[in-house]
Amino acid sequence: MRINAKKKLGLIFFPAFDWAISPTHPEREERLLYTKDQILEEGILDIGGIREYNPIIASKEDVERTHICVPDIDNIVTMPHLISAGGAIKAGELVMEGEVDKAFAIIRPPGHHAFQVVHGARGFCTINNEAIMVEHLRQRYGSDLKIAFVDTDAHHADGTQNIYYNDPNVLHISLHQDGRTLYPGTGFVDDLGGPGAYGRTINLPLPPNTTDEGLLYSLDNLILPILDDFKPDLVINAAGQDNHYSDPLTNMSISAQGYAELNAKLDPDLAILQGGYSIEAALPYVNVGIILAMAGLDYSQIKEPDYHPSIKKQSPKITDTIKKDVEKLLKAWENKDKVDIQKKFNSKDYYTTKRNIYYDTANITENQEVKIKICADCAGLMIIDSVARPSSHGKIRAIIIPHNLCEDCCNLGYQEYQRAKDRSQFKIVYLQDKRKDELLSFK
Ligand SMILES: [Zn+2]
Ligand SMILES: [Zn+2]
Repeated sequence: MRINAKKKLGLIFFPAFDWAISPTHPEREERLLYTKDQILEEGILDIGGIREYNPIIASKEDVERTHICVPDIDNIVTMPHLISAGGAIKAGELVMEGEVDKAFAIIRPPGHHAFQVVHGARGFCTINNEAIMVEHLRQRYGSDLKIAFVDTDAHHADGTQNIYYNDPNVLHISLHQDGRTLYPGTGFVDDLGGPGAYGRTINLPLPPNTTDEGLLYSLDNLILPILDDFKPDLVINAAGQDNHYSDPLTNMSISAQGYAELNAKLDPDLAILQGGYSIEAALPYVNVGIILAMAGLDYSQIKEPDYHPSIKKQSPKITDTIKKDVEKLLKAWENKDKVDIQKKFNSKDYYTTKRNIYYDTANITENQEVKIKICADCAGLMIIDSVARPSSHGKIRAIIIPHNLCEDCCNLGYQEYQRAKDRSQFKIVYLQDKRKDELLSFK
């Protein structure tokens, strides 16, 4: 008897077999080889309603409406990056067009550590596949699309957070191993977003050795209530699998059953693969678990060969820490619209932040200063000054006009572009206008 999926599911598979940072690097093509074998062995593609689709190639415009590549896209992005991003786009289009109910992009190289400005690769990511997909969908189906990301990778999704930090239509929730114990060292509960989207960035750091119990507690008591309130058009699980108990890079204790249950309850429209470096012991089981859960099928038989129920046991101290942070975040969410933004961000004009961003993969250090206009009528114009070392490109300025900016802020953006072009202190000046869907640059 042929099994039929309860929900039609599209799978997009791009293992980038000819691409790796280096042959022995943990983010390499074998990551998806065993998964592919497991999918075939379990007969997943024989299930009615589950179908494999080919990725498309993301266009230059797709990348440039999401990122500022320094000096330009050709110097930063390779074909495998474009196909990986194109795999995410294909997944998004399949769902938006109603061809399938859900889609899972099992792709690499991953994307969630790639920031808005890109000087190279960091955290194994160069361009942000899921953000490129979202920007593509908003261009095609309307900028008012409300999006919710739930990033379950063990590492803080600092790149996706950065891209949507000040975007009120995008809710970004990241669950990750506590940044005091793991790269990239960020993502704490008090980091709640920019002045134009305060409260729509949610970070829940999980203590090392958190098990399925902690993950599912966070889902039931924080994520699902917030999603219920936010009412997104699309829910995206940035499905990192490096919080598995066997992962060599992290210290978490999640199992394939935990992942599958999360996806069954979260019921995401889209899942996009992120990290996960336990190539044989975790990825094949976790991915199959996610697939069955998304398709509305029984996943109770999916277990790692070395699985033991004791893996589910979590210390009371961990449970207590998670409960306290969940409470804090729920309160922050409930009160987010009551916050006096000018007071909170200590300014009536621009909110300015400075930071160093380290690109561990490319060994680059970037100094960034970001100014966000505090505006009563819109989320605010954004101006980013950036200089990377080593780099031959000097200091750049990027002026970002997001979707739904007010007329005054748009005009200000073009004035700032003109002013920056006239000043010799910037080697390159960019203007990214999301309303017009164009990127201007001046060298
Ligand atoms: Zn990760
Ligand atoms: Zn404005």
